[in-house]
Amino acid sequence: MAKLKRSDTLITMRCSVCKRRNYYTHKNKKQVERKIELKKFCSWCRAQTPHKEARITGK
Ligand SMILES: [Zn+2]
Repeated sequence: MAKLKRSDTLITMRCSVCKRRNYYTHKNKKQVERKIELKKFCSWCRAQTPHKEARITGK
């Protein structure tokens, strides 16, 4: 697993259609202040859908 810097926050990218979490990533809070929204392929919807950032709760 990649080492996480202290300023990096682990997040998930959640499909806005089926609400499933499909991708894990992390972002640097100091560099990225806006919420991330990306078009990604959802294997549940079988289509490109908007994926929104979702915070992972707990550890
Ligand atoms: Zn989906």
